[in-house]
Amino acid sequence: MAIKVLIIGSGPAGYTAAIYAARAGLQPVLFTGGQPGGQLTTTNDVENFPGYPDGINGPQMMIDLQKQAERFGTQIRYGLVTGVAVDEYPFQVTIDEKDQVIAETIIVATGATAKYLGLPSEEKFANRGVSACAVCDGYFYRGKEVAVVGAGDSAAEESTYLSKLCTKVHLIVRRGEMRASRIMQQRVLNTPNIQVHWHSETDEILGDDQGVTGVRIRNTKTGEASILAIQGFFLAIGHKPNTELFKGKLNMDEAGYLQVQAGTTRTNIEGIFAVGDVADKVYRQAITAAGSGCMGALDAEKFLAAKEAQAVHA
Ligand code: NDP
Repeated sequence: MAIKVLIIGSGPAGYTAAIYAARAGLQPVLFTGGQPGGQLTTTNDVENFPGYPDGINGPQMMIDLQKQAERFGTQIRYGLVTGVAVDEYPFQVTIDEKDQVIAETIIVATGATAKYLGLPSEEKFANRGVSACAVCDGYFYRGKEVAVVGAGDSAAEESTYLSKLCTKVHLIVRRGEMRASRIMQQRVLNTPNIQVHWHSETDEILGDDQGVTGVRIRNTKTGEASILAIQGFFLAIGHKPNTELFKGKLNMDEAGYLQVQAGTTRTNIEGIFAVGDVADKVYRQAITAAGSGCMGALDAEKFLAAKEAQAVHA
């Protein structure tokens, strides 16, 4: 039997879509993907999700969302979606490269993955001073000195955000210019407690049992190394949307983010909806992902109702 609503991805967007679709009686099936719980499982405390006055631990929040989705009848499956045929309706979906299921609608909630520099010390200090989200984790570094690596809009925005919380922000830029929009660059350059380190590469993140204590950077022009005493190291070198599966099938922008019709979650293929970070390179918050997951479920429900009405009148 065809699955009415198949959800790919298990972050806040996927689970919220599941809660709404399940409560609408659509018996959704959610495939968790390779990182059950998504990006929030890599953070500690989430303090900006409304409704948790004392904050909530990221992995715990995802367990709660899963339970809430299951409570209304969502089936959670741990397989990987490895293929989606979009040119025939209903859609044929391949799981783990061998099993086939049929879906009447698909909600894509595969998220995006933050890019890392690839240093072993980044992994070592993950969640102990290294973060890829200033808005999520900046608050833990208030009154402290931090560094941000990157030179795009994210790096500019995150440094400015952190400058309001931290005593000093070191922005590590690998070239002699920033890619960020002019207005955001100006904001960075006009903020007295942001120091830009041009032509600088990150050699190593330094720390001890307590977490990060510094970063060693190297000037690519002179070869000179220096150590910045910091307690937080923020990556802002971009994200990669998880859209490999849909290349050549769903419309994407040049960076690979899925494109949806404004104000909806509809992709260019009727019956396929995109929600959360996979279609959002600007906001990227758990709450915005959850909100768009809700929209996806409502859009899918509306689509199915229209199909049913067509069938009755045919
Ligand atoms: P971008 O891809 O625009 O920028 C990534 C930056 O990271 C570049 O400046 C790049 O340097 C640098 N970088 C990449 N790899 C390394 C590395 N290994 N070491 C050091 N630096 C590195 O990503 P963003 O996340 O900034 O932005 C993504 C998109 O989202 C953009 O379109 C942006 O405009 C948009 N955005 C908009 C916002 C807004 O309007 N409020 C806020 C945030 C993002 P280099 O320049 O040398 O290549």
